[in-house]
Amino acid sequence: MCGVFGYIGHPSLKLRNGESRLNAAKIVFEGLKTLEYRGYDSWGIAVQVQSPAAAKALAGGQSEKSKLIVEKHIGKISDSDFPLSTFHSSLALGHTRWATHGGVTKANAHPHLDCTGRIAVVHNGIVENFQELKKDLVKKGHKFKSETDTEVIAHLIEQELGVQPIIGVRPLENAVRKAFLKLSGLNAFVILSDSYLIAAKNGSPLVVGILKDAFLIASDPSAIITKTREAIFLEDNQLVSISQKSLNIYDVKSLKKIQPKISHLDWTTTDSKLGKFAYFMLKEIYEQPQVLAKIAANGGQIEKLAKIVKDAHGTFFVACGSASYAALSGTYLFAKIAKKHVNFSIGSEFNYLEDYIDRGSLVIPISQSGESVDVIEPVVRAKKRGAKIFAIVNVYGSTLFRTADYNLLLEAGVEKAVCATKSWTAMVANLIYLAYATVGKANQGRGIIQRTQKAVSKILIPEYINKIRKLSRILTDAKDIYIIGRGLSYPTALEATLKLKEVPYVHSEGFAGGELKHGVIALIEKGTPCIVFAPNDETYDDIISNAIEIKARGGYIIGVSPKTNQVFDFYLPVSDVEVGSVIVNTVPMQLLAYYLALEKGLDPDKPRNLAKSVTVK
Ligand code: GLU
Repeated sequence: MCGVFGYIGHPSLKLRNGESRLNAAKIVFEGLKTLEYRGYDSWGIAVQVQSPAAAKALAGGQSEKSKLIVEKHIGKISDSDFPLSTFHSSLALGHTRWATHGGVTKANAHPHLDCTGRIAVVHNGIVENFQELKKDLVKKGHKFKSETDTEVIAHLIEQELGVQPIIGVRPLENAVRKAFLKLSGLNAFVILSDSYLIAAKNGSPLVVGILKDAFLIASDPSAIITKTREAIFLEDNQLVSISQKSLNIYDVKSLKKIQPKISHLDWTTTDSKLGKFAYFMLKEIYEQPQVLAKIAANGGQIEKLAKIVKDAHGTFFVACGSASYAALSGTYLFAKIAKKHVNFSIGSEFNYLEDYIDRGSLVIPISQSGESVDVIEPVVRAKKRGAKIFAIVNVYGSTLFRTADYNLLLEAGVEKAVCATKSWTAMVANLIYLAYATVGKANQGRGIIQRTQKAVSKILIPEYINKIRKLSRILTDAKDIYIIGRGLSYPTALEATLKLKEVPYVHSEGFAGGELKHGVIALIEKGTPCIVFAPNDETYDDIISNAIEIKARGGYIIGVSPKTNQVFDFYLPVSDVEVGSVIVNTVPMQLLAYYLALEKGLDPDKPRNLAKSVTVK
């Protein structure tokens, strides 16, 4: 995961928005905040500092020696004040970390330096062969200061450069290239050295933003879009070398120059300010009716894409986390509505099923960020086997968006809280619509989404919120919560358990109702809370029987259903909206997770150990 943000500006020019010159560290500090969802263990910035006098000299075209300063902090950048205000610079590089190798310490925070302190490196990915590289570098006399895999990159570049001072960009580019070729795994890194930013990538994303008088480099286009719409997406095995005035892209293997392909970022950024809400998670829960209205209005796009699904021989949904549960609900939806068999695989498992994939296959990756490496990697492999890729993503311009032959944008708007709420709703709603459109019944799908929109709005009212708050107080000390559903409510149960695990850290398990008696019922004791989804469909009678079985063993039954039942100890009413129940049943669970987190004094937006976009394996 990790967010990378770099800035290199020409010191003699002002930025378009009138920001004062030579504030690269501040620009990077603010840029990193927009990437915090990618990791928030710790953060750091390297800045090439000039004194005001030096800056003046530089602007006049003279050169004066500058100094590389590194500032690192544990914790969230959004909780920090800007510590570099006294430094003047036109060149800075920063990182917000989600640790893979090495604990969350100041020493392990990026940027990492080589032995001479001239090369600063930030990195997204895992250097899979770092142990052997490190052993060799230590033998050669390099001194390591962190436990990370990343630090080997700085020392490898230093090693490749030899002992001479950096005398120009070519030797540096060459050293970066040689170091990059020694790494195994999926990696993107950026170095700041002398007066250059140089980056190379394989797997993890990097985008360069072009301003009139500066360049930016970041992990994600959303981090640069407020400053520029002109961007270059770096492809795998490309190296970009950026100075104050020029930008060159090379093939990393041959160092042959590549003509940069400039993309125009033409999507509209939606408001991502908290407004009246205490947390983004709550704001995003409340945005769901709006998201559903937008999807219902999206007819033309859905009908066109439905034809691709209809004509495919062998269709595979591939996704992780909440998106995987949305995908699983998609298999039920396509079976029920479109009478079509769609396979489903968790992203990280799809490689082991790829022998099925051929030229007739249609692979449908589903991802909010479009950057989940566990999805991208198998999808790229499927593409090589001749499959067509139809990505369902929220982020325009993301890696999956660019890899795909066809795209369906979720239209959920920016989702900032780490846990999925409105993006889950958008995924399921789009799948409902798509399933109906596949059999020429788009209007029926649209009608269900519109009714679902109304049903969600009915939950987001003060009386209902009070009910949820009451339930969250009942469940504050619960150690385990079980959730059951049948058919379409089974993936709903899985999604609900994920909310309870990731936001208030409650151990929760979701099961298909029929499975309990095959072992799990042994876990039910007096007072064990069990949430039961009982929509008004073919699963109702059987799931109520399962609830009665649990109650007979002392379970405390929380029923989510359009009609109450005497087995329920606590009842959460929801409207009957047919297959839209997947969405409507999830909303009270999102609210429950949120209010349980508040009861426990936790930050619902940034749960421990997590990051929003999972870009490492
Ligand atoms: N492997 C690096 C570290 O642990 C980068 C991790 C990442 O990209 O998430 O610091």
